[in-house]
Amino acid sequence: MEQPIWIALFFIAIAIGYALGRRDRRRRHSNRMKNLSHEYMRGLNFLLNEQPDKAVDIFVNSLDVNANTIDTHLGLARLFRKRGEVDRATRIHSNLLEQQDLPAEVREDVQLELARDYIAAGVLDRAEIILQEMLERGTRSEVQVMRHLMSIFEQEKDWHNALAVGDRLLVRDNSVSSVLAHYCCELAERLDGEDQMNSARRTLRRALAYDPGCVRANLILGRYEMNEHQWDNAIRAFRRIRRQDASFFDEVLDDLERCYVALGREAQLDKLLAKVAIDHPSTSVVLKLAERLHSRYGEKAASVFIADYMKAHPTVRGLSRIIEMNIGHTEGSAREHFGILQSLTQQLLSEQSFYQCGHCGFDAHHLHWQCPTCKHWGTIRPQQEQEQH
Ligand SMILES: [Zn+2]
Repeated sequence: MEQPIWIALFFIAIAIGYALGRRDRRRRHSNRMKNLSHEYMRGLNFLLNEQPDKAVDIFVNSLDVNANTIDTHLGLARLFRKRGEVDRATRIHSNLLEQQDLPAEVREDVQLELARDYIAAGVLDRAEIILQEMLERGTRSEVQVMRHLMSIFEQEKDWHNALAVGDRLLVRDNSVSSVLAHYCCELAERLDGEDQMNSARRTLRRALAYDPGCVRANLILGRYEMNEHQWDNAIRAFRRIRRQDASFFDEVLDDLERCYVALGREAQLDKLLAKVAIDHPSTSVVLKLAERLHSRYGEKAASVFIADYMKAHPTVRGLSRIIEMNIGHTEGSAREHFGILQSLTQQLLSEQSFYQCGHCGFDAHHLHWQCPTCKHWGTIRPQQEQEQH
């Protein structure tokens, strides 16, 4: 830490603690004043000699812990943690817990803070021990304790325990239900890897019980059904996504096509796509439909179809597809121009982000269920493709 800030912190902490302590300690006033100023000078010396750890020792040893000074201790430790100097925060909190006569409520606050220090330092097992112990004993900070515990299990990818704590938390805070649905999906994906299909299906049903809007559960379920060639079941799961959140429907277009093709019911797929193109038009649906038109009626029909859509919704992806379809029919300088346009649209596409986190604004090229930046679950959504004006 830069020295002037250190000095200021140290001074403020001692001064506040002293001022507060003075009110009910008049009898010891003169001795304390003498001690404090002596300790204060020693602390300053350590700071000036760039030995901040010794300065913390001085602070910890010189300022009594009592009802009036506890906030100073906690405040200083919180400042250290905020600045990333977690070990100093930990030392202050550990020192506080060594005080025998600490009131029970204050002890709880300090324990919670110490657990936060360990979480900040990435020492999750120690934080877990403190929090579990608080939860077993019973604490007025139960909700916070459970939130921290859930987040620790999440970081450790211990989905069973994360769900167990989550279930307890849900009774007090039902906003965690959508997060618990994602935990189930994580667990189901793991079970899938271990070839435990029935457990995986059960876990996905549990996800939907937590959050009936959980798109991810139907998407995973549909893909399981596909793996087992249960095409009708897969189609049902994918079509449920459209009712849950139509903007995620683009994610399953290729899968749906595979299912309908496997069943030899492609006409039904075309009908569905045409309906979606009217209700919830998107470049992906229009391009998929154009692909279908291409195989049935040829390139010309497909190209005209995309061009018509582009008149109302001009997007880079649509343009890129039209160029691709037409480049083969041109020659000479026209072909050359098409080639330049093609590389230009490809460049634009590589720079375009198709998903965005509604919480922190993170732009992504692929769909993430948990935002890599803010760590929120289910906040990244497909973006309506930017129209080019
Ligand atoms: Zn985010």
